[in-house]
Amino acid sequence: MTDRRRFLQTGLLAAGALAVPGMRAQTNNASARARVVSTWDFGVQANTAAWRVLETGGSALDAVEAGARWAESELCNPTVGHCGRPDRDGVLTLDASIMDGDGRCGSVAALQDIAHPISVARRVMEKTPHVMLVGEGAQQFAVQQGFAKQRLLTPAAEQAWRDWLKTAEYKPEINAERRSQPGNKDNHDTLGMLAIDAQGKLAGACTTSGMAWKMHGRVGDSPIIGAGLYVDNEVGAATASGVGEEMIRNAASFLVVELMRQGRTPADACREAIDRVVRKRPEASKTLQVCFLALNKHGEVGAFALHKGFVYAVCDADEHEDLRESASVYATKQL
Ligand code: ASP
Repeated sequence: MTDRRRFLQTGLLAAGALAVPGMRAQTNNASARARVVSTWDFGVQANTAAWRVLETGGSALDAVEAGARWAESELCNPTVGHCGRPDRDGVLTLDASIMDGDGRCGSVAALQDIAHPISVARRVMEKTPHVMLVGEGAQQFAVQQGFAKQRLLTPAAEQAWRDWLKTAEYKPEINAERRSQPGNKDNHDTLGMLAIDAQGKLAGACTTSGMAWKMHGRVGDSPIIGAGLYVDNEVGAATASGVGEEMIRNAASFLVVELMRQGRTPADACREAIDRVVRKRPEASKTLQVCFLALNKHGEVGAFALHKGFVYAVCDADEHEDLRESASVYATKQL
């Protein structure tokens, strides 16, 4: 049984809605079917940014881009965007992908010194004949498109890397502490966001700095369509967080969508995908985290994780700050 907890203390949108009588009722009509879901507790605020788009009848695609942009620049978290941890050479590289339910998609991997990889991914989708650009080529394209080049590595991230060099041990942690807390030790996570708009169209976005202390040039699942993200208007959408190599091995987000196509609920589909990870690598699965989040075309949400502690945020016209905990195979971590 999934635990549910509501976080009511923040929420610019909720405050705004209260401040303007009547706005909420109008909002509900405009976005009756709309819903946005995101990985981890920072998904609550990312959802708020996306909801501003959905509540006014905007598209799911615009909504997920807005939510991911929030995470890339407003959130200061060691696992996403400008505060992300670097690779083992001290270089911060970002991965992102975006996809809509008609199969249009774009992504960037190992992108350096550009603050909004999700928007570059969208430009790849809209302005090139390709799906994915990596490294220098991705950066060159971003600059051509008007994105500013800027040094992103924060002093805190650089210091964390210098500290890490003392042992230089690559050891991904299983959601070690509560997310978004100052000083937390998380060394990997991703904002994965899925949305359905008032027209019933789906879209998704994924953005991350990947695994802290990864090898230079390592690409995770997040920018790989079908691994970290997959969306199909006929069925639903799925995204992932955790050690990306496991998602890539299992084409996992595609798998979750295909399982939903065969009639599984979002939660069951995520559970079966997790079971595949366990069956393929039973020993490794005990020490690493993998999490899936899915949204079907009816707006139903489900999730499943390898280890306890995966939380995801749900936002719709009725509930803006709903944070839920996923069920898991192993109950090894307490929130
Ligand atoms: N999936 C990301 C990666 O492998 C990291 C994470 O979400 O924890 O790059």
